[in-house]
Amino acid sequence: MFDRASVVTPGGVNSPVRAFRAVGGTPRFMVSGTGPYLTDADGREYVDLVCSWGPMILGHSHPEVIAAVQEAVSRGTSFGTPGEGEVALAEEIVARIAPVEQVRLVSSGTEATMSAIRLARGFTGRSKVVKFAGCYHGHVDALLAAAGSGLATFGLPDTPGVTGATARDTVVLPYNDLDAVRAAFAAHPGEIACVITEASPGNMGVVPPADGFNAGLKELCAANGALYISDEVMTGFRTSKAGWYGVDGVSPDLMTFGKVMGGGFPAAAFGGRADVMAHLAPAGPVYQAGTLSGNPVATAAGLAQLRLLDDAAYAKIDAVSAELRSLVGDAFTKEGVAHTVSSASNMFSVFFTDEPVRNYDDAKKQEAFRFTAFFHSMLEQGVYLPPSAFESWFVSTAHDERAVERIAAALPAAARAAS
Ligand code: PLP
Repeated sequence: MFDRASVVTPGGVNSPVRAFRAVGGTPRFMVSGTGPYLTDADGREYVDLVCSWGPMILGHSHPEVIAAVQEAVSRGTSFGTPGEGEVALAEEIVARIAPVEQVRLVSSGTEATMSAIRLARGFTGRSKVVKFAGCYHGHVDALLAAAGSGLATFGLPDTPGVTGATARDTVVLPYNDLDAVRAAFAAHPGEIACVITEASPGNMGVVPPADGFNAGLKELCAANGALYISDEVMTGFRTSKAGWYGVDGVSPDLMTFGKVMGGGFPAAAFGGRADVMAHLAPAGPVYQAGTLSGNPVATAAGLAQLRLLDDAAYAKIDAVSAELRSLVGDAFTKEGVAHTVSSASNMFSVFFTDEPVRNYDDAKKQEAFRFTAFFHSMLEQGVYLPPSAFESWFVSTAHDERAVERIAAALPAAARAAS
């Protein structure tokens, strides 16, 4: 299948991180998923610790999500008009996340961040955007500079195709460094429209914000007339019922969402202060649109998933994550492999270093080659990890004792392979 795909698709994949570039080998083509398991085209079953890069927080083929999708599909797949499902999904988001007074639905996290920075520029009348090295916000031209995720995997500083003019309006700073943000505001007075940050980064591996970092960003933005945009595409509805906002309580001006809120379908959103959102067309002058925005099937899937994500669901995910973190850490300790299991709520990843990792430069100092050996041993033993040392691992409510036992059984040999 990979040979076939490579003829008709660049690199054989439709999103670079799916290729096994960093770890070598042939990407697995999955044909079905049930609960915590995926089955590939050769009939092999894997415990899935990728969860479609975050969205599948209830596991695969959750019966209630599937039923909601089937019900929606039976009424038609797209109308290009307003519909009840999109209102209900927006209401659910607004009810969960206090700083979001209004929300606009889109189809991908990239669209959400792209639109949020356009809105911030339109609202403030300023051009420059501050982002942090190692934070990935989708493949938006202005936000690809020093991004993590696939760019980290491939060792690319940024990408051809983004013009110098676009890049000049992006100020890239080291993560977790408020002094650098202060200096940027001093260097560009009245020019910075917004600071965008992953609420808690997962695209350079998991690197949580230092105590007070997000609150400091908010303060500096407010003091300098810029908007604070918290990108919760990865953390939203995953790290708590109200995402990372539910963990640190810092109120952004704008927020972006994706992944979990789509229930495995293309649905994403940006939202925030009503006075800022009022600048968006047709209420205001900043244009943004989408043929499939608020698609009835995607919104039905997202709504069904969110409604199942109650306190008990998060308690379960947090517990499974804690158990796996301790199993993984113990396995490496036993083999004498220098490592740090880094976590933010239930998101976690392993850095192959015992030095503290506070930013992208620290993350890049890890011995990533150890991950390659670890990854392939786990894969051979039926555990599917993200194919890069710079990605978060994800668990779901479906990761039960049997799934955890299978992971536990695979860890000793994989840790040995990494040593
Ligand atoms: N923002 C963050 C924090 C992400 O992790 C991602 C994707 O991984 C995006 C934005 C882009 O979302 P999408 O891949 O849906 O365009």
